[in-house]
Amino acid sequence: MLRGMRTALVSWASGTACAAVLFLSACASKPRQPPPNLYPTPAPYATQPGASPQYPSPQQYPYPQQPGTAPPQQPAPVPGPPPAPTSLPPVSAPVAYDPINAVDINFLRGRAQAVLGELVANLPPAQQQRVQGIPLIPDTEVGEVNAFAACTEKGKAVMAISDGMLDISAHLAQARAIDEIFGSRKVDEYIAFVARNQRPDSPVVRPPPGFFDPTQSVDPRKVQRQHQLLDEQIAFVLGHELAHHYLGHLPCTAGSVTLSEMNRVLADAVPVFNQPNEAAADAAGVNNVLTTGSRRQGYRFTEGGALLTMQFFGGIDQLSPLDVLFGFERSHPPPAGRVVIIQQTANAFRMTGGQGLPILGL
Ligand SMILES: [Zn+2]
Repeated sequence: MLRGMRTALVSWASGTACAAVLFLSACASKPRQPPPNLYPTPAPYATQPGASPQYPSPQQYPYPQQPGTAPPQQPAPVPGPPPAPTSLPPVSAPVAYDPINAVDINFLRGRAQAVLGELVANLPPAQQQRVQGIPLIPDTEVGEVNAFAACTEKGKAVMAISDGMLDISAHLAQARAIDEIFGSRKVDEYIAFVARNQRPDSPVVRPPPGFFDPTQSVDPRKVQRQHQLLDEQIAFVLGHELAHHYLGHLPCTAGSVTLSEMNRVLADAVPVFNQPNEAAADAAGVNNVLTTGSRRQGYRFTEGGALLTMQFFGGIDQLSPLDVLFGFERSHPPPAGRVVIIQQTANAFRMTGGQGLPILGL
């Protein structure tokens, strides 16, 4: 199903200076007033890794990496639990503090920045050149659950992931880690909880104390696993948006579009959201995630994070009494169709020895 694109005129003030930025978004956002800390945009990760106060260095939270995990050989035909790790570290002391358990938003933003850097570093040179140094801006809008690729009116490419999306990813990572290790159904329970309690444009609801068993929450195996799952989810969400840029779906990274042409596109609000582009971004994003995973020293990304994200939004679509709860659902195709693309792309990636199938626009 095609859904309409929204072109957002976004303006905000920083001190005494005002700036207006027109966003043309592939996975569109809605018009709103971002808080002052969005301007100026953070420096590109390539030149100042972790230097922005909004993106603390991941090194603040050193976690041991799990030895490489084999990718799934036969992914399930429907959304469900991703393959469990083939080996888990030995049980050690409970983890007194963990930033995912605490839903530390600065830590989560830092992980988004770090994962985006990995994704860009593992693109083929031609695509990498189009998105090298692309800034990732935080989106602190209350209740906003989305990620998007966009162009400023000056033709600068940007990407964003909302704090609400990171909050949900952190909870899903905890829930899935507990399910894998303790055989529970916390992912299903969390999705049902959000579907029941979330209201539009309200802060993302969080499960009450005790929703996660306190002993299980601090289990070192669970804590280690949730860090892998968090990064894996973020990798697909950002990998999809990054693909919109290097596949040329947006005027600022399309290569052959001039600034005046771009302004005309913006003025005419020509829809750029379309099914072929979305499918191509999903496929390219999966290839990027799996390529990145195959080259990692520690945990190797699979498509499990992507499927977990789809399981959440698919569940919300089914269980919520409200039509559309989150911007992510407004600006992306329905999860059921995306699951097929994700699984087919991942299977093809493995069958071709990591080459993947040709993707429209590459
Ligand atoms: Zn998209």
